[in-house]
Amino acid sequence: MFRQSRTIITKLRNLSLQCSWRSRGSSAVERALKYTTGQKIHGFTVTEVTAVPDLFLTAVKLNHDVTGAQYLHAARDDTNNLFSVQFRTTPMDSTGVPHILEHTVLCGSQRFPCRDPFFKMLNRSLSTFMNAFTASDYTMYPFSTQNAKDFQNLLSVYLDAVFFPCLRELDFWQEGWRLEHEAPTDPSSRLVFKGVVFNEMKGVFSDNERLYAQHLQNKLLPDHTYSVVSGGEPLAIPDLTWEQLKQFHATHYHPSNARIFTYGDLPLEQHLEQIEREALSKFDRTQPDTAVPPQTPWNKPRIDHVTCSSDALAPDPVKQNTLCMSYLLGDITNTFETFTLNLLSSLMISGPNSPFYKALIEPNIGTDFSSSTGFDGSTRQASFTIGLQGMAEDDCEKVKHIIAQTIDDIIATGFEEEQVEALLHKIEIQMKHQSTSFGLALASYIASCWNHDGDPVELLKISESVSRFRECLKENPHFLQEKVRQYFKDNTHQLTLSMSPDEKFLEKRAEAEEHKLQQKIQSLTDVDNKDIYEKGLQLLAAQNTIQDASCLPALKVSDIEPTIPFTPVQLSAAGGIPVQYCEQPTNGMVYFRAMCNLNSLPEDLKIYVPLFCNVITKLGCGELDYRQQAQRIELKTGGMTVSPQVIPDTDDLDLYEQGIILSSSCLERNLPDMFQLWSDTFNSPHFNDEERLRVLVMMSAQELANGISFSGHSYAMTRAARSLTPSADLQETFSGMDQVKFMKRIAEMADLTSVLRKLPRIKRHLLNPENMRCAVNATPLKMADVQGEMERFTQNIAANRKERKPVRQNIVEKSLDAHTESAASRKLISEPNFKPCQMKTYFQLPFPVNFVSECVRTVPFTHTDFPSLCILARMMTAKYLHGEIREKGGAYGGGVRLGAGGLLSFYSYRDPNSTQTLSAFRGGVEWAREGKFTQQDVDEAKLSVFSAVDAPIAPSDKGLGRFLNGVTDEMKQTYRERLFAVTDKNLIDVAGRYLAVGQQTHGVTILGPENESIRKDPSWVVK
Ligand SMILES: [Zn+2]
Repeated sequence: MFRQSRTIITKLRNLSLQCSWRSRGSSAVERALKYTTGQKIHGFTVTEVTAVPDLFLTAVKLNHDVTGAQYLHAARDDTNNLFSVQFRTTPMDSTGVPHILEHTVLCGSQRFPCRDPFFKMLNRSLSTFMNAFTASDYTMYPFSTQNAKDFQNLLSVYLDAVFFPCLRELDFWQEGWRLEHEAPTDPSSRLVFKGVVFNEMKGVFSDNERLYAQHLQNKLLPDHTYSVVSGGEPLAIPDLTWEQLKQFHATHYHPSNARIFTYGDLPLEQHLEQIEREALSKFDRTQPDTAVPPQTPWNKPRIDHVTCSSDALAPDPVKQNTLCMSYLLGDITNTFETFTLNLLSSLMISGPNSPFYKALIEPNIGTDFSSSTGFDGSTRQASFTIGLQGMAEDDCEKVKHIIAQTIDDIIATGFEEEQVEALLHKIEIQMKHQSTSFGLALASYIASCWNHDGDPVELLKISESVSRFRECLKENPHFLQEKVRQYFKDNTHQLTLSMSPDEKFLEKRAEAEEHKLQQKIQSLTDVDNKDIYEKGLQLLAAQNTIQDASCLPALKVSDIEPTIPFTPVQLSAAGGIPVQYCEQPTNGMVYFRAMCNLNSLPEDLKIYVPLFCNVITKLGCGELDYRQQAQRIELKTGGMTVSPQVIPDTDDLDLYEQGIILSSSCLERNLPDMFQLWSDTFNSPHFNDEERLRVLVMMSAQELANGISFSGHSYAMTRAARSLTPSADLQETFSGMDQVKFMKRIAEMADLTSVLRKLPRIKRHLLNPENMRCAVNATPLKMADVQGEMERFTQNIAANRKERKPVRQNIVEKSLDAHTESAASRKLISEPNFKPCQMKTYFQLPFPVNFVSECVRTVPFTHTDFPSLCILARMMTAKYLHGEIREKGGAYGGGVRLGAGGLLSFYSYRDPNSTQTLSAFRGGVEWAREGKFTQQDVDEAKLSVFSAVDAPIAPSDKGLGRFLNGVTDEMKQTYRERLFAVTDKNLIDVAGRYLAVGQQTHGVTILGPENESIRKDPSWVVK
């Protein structure tokens, strides 16, 4: 995977706590405090032990005596243990060498020489996360798991992969690039470029936002490694040789250039012992020359311009320009300065009260901020970028002027105190909220700073930074304004970069690729040609041989817990509205959800539901205009969101619940304020500001259009499912290509008053207590208060209660509590006469790669065949489709999954092929029907399914499956027992009965470039 910069504030958002809900006895945090500086453990020396009470952890810093490898352990009472090793990889060309190396080391190592041990471990482990990333200046390999044995297994595989990889020539061709005959077995077919990274990067740069961000970094920091593309520029990739790859590994993947991070409640000694024994003891010290020197500052600003492909789905086709100004800031190893600049950036751009939002977004010059906008701390020196996307070329000068003027205004007037308070409140919430992937969030939070030899422990002391920030403000009321002057007004290292679409962009790109190809081909001798043909066959043969993975460690099915712990909930009512209370160690937070069905909403308004959800908490309510409302939400809550929901029934594919879910959280002390905000939203939302609505519509249309190149497989799957069940049809309306096109149409409307007038009509049906049920998760101590507040809230909104006739006739009621005769129920829509039908749809889009999906209607969740289908899907993905679609086909990814709604969806991601991939899907079914798999394959698929079933659930989300989908713990346990019981015969049986041609209805969708054979084929609908 190739990762581009993200701002620290995004990382902070994920940095949330998982407090100890296992016994406190002798906690990991306390045990770690007993280490002393200077202590020697298994070849390491402890250099620092620090308690970080804010994050409930103890940080232990160590150095490896011989190699100098740096080590940080964060001891915390969290069972989701994490390991990560990162290397400073600072390439000086755009061949993508660090990225191709990242892929290739995962292809087999000395102790584990089988092909692709990394992907194979996905099926032999209960890992909660496994991945690898290439950033601009480091490469990171993290995994997490809750099982101690699994941790040791994965650690062995990861250490061997990075330190002792095979790096075979064959792996380099497969993952990097190669010249090969289009049909490898046919030497008369033409030669083309192939390779996983080659295709992946073509896909990455088909996304204009990514393209722009890459140019911006290259041009703002032109002196060293940031001037090249670490992931690989597609046309430079074919310049890389296998020798260069091995050389890069030898110099960069050395312990002396490594930083190792472990996290969780497992003992540190064990980790150190294993890391020393299996890896570090085999190395000496080197002097890696990988540091990034500071960029020489410019003495005057620079201006540059780049081009991109034009976007058929852009809200306004003539407004497709991007313009940003980017400023180079200080060194990220200066933690407090970085913290301050990060906060300052948020104050300048976040939310409708920020100066840049007022100056740039509200006048409607562009559709939204450019996605590069904000603080970026991923490079050695941080930067701040501000600008717009979706604007007309003529407006460029105007935008530059506004940016300069806004900076002057900020220097003159500063920020309101309440804005600063709202931001600091946000940080408090982020520290309190508990997520299930805390270790991973921590690893990526410290990665960049540590990579440049900054102090990672310093970064963790967040509340110390907050106090120091408050002091600075108190001592000097102009503290922030002076920073703005220093870093923006008086900073000559600034870049203005514009990007405009070029009609011929893709054509030129294809030409350049063809030119490169011809260059390579012309230099080939007869011997080379013969070699290429033979290597192609060799690779094909290697891909076709059955793999012996027995060298890899594995958990057994018997290592999986046979039963699940039950989550008690209390079902009650407040003001006649059903409420589910769930007591959880939420660390002083309260989580509220409400589900409202939309059964009485007229059909023609349904397509507006996502738009309604998007704007209902952003237009103002009660006494508050939209700015005050935004401020209040930031100051008192962890956010308030509303989103559409389509919930397929667990027993019947033609039955589903439709509605919206309201969701918010707050610190316990702000509970009354949070409910006041919801009451005002129900009682007196504002629907009178067309200009405000236009801003929100443009942003949302732009976001949808931008998302397609990244989530093309989701759009393809949603569309392919559309004609198979009634719930999938509604899902397409809410979140598929139909919705993207609908929002584009709305964004193009000159007058939005007709849309504005629809919102109160929708509100009457959706925000109706008659159709509502609620759920709250909070600590046991707070529950009594919560119940009181719920009573008050339901009284406050009672006037909106109205019985309305449902639009559809067939309503099926399902009790919320299966055990007692409770009156409260979910009201589902039944469509017993729904006729699934076959549909093949092609969306022609300006991408150089395809997203292919085929969807099959199977059975609902409680059906006895559901567990077999689920395991079958996992097994086909790992044992057949991965090889066909990724290894042979050159796609970035592909597989098949079974959704809760009983739809089995095949998919491929960033795929050079289109209809061939459909054949691969069918090949997978035949493979399964013929039983060409082993008991080991079945067991591995089970492990893999259980690692998803048993993924940790945060206290904020416990009990939600029951509240939303009606899936009780008893149902989960039954499902679990059925999963254990699945046999190879069951798999062959369901593959034949459900997936074979002619058995069940299929839907097919492809998103991709112009495709002549499909255009000529009348069985396809081309859009
Ligand atoms: Zn990649």
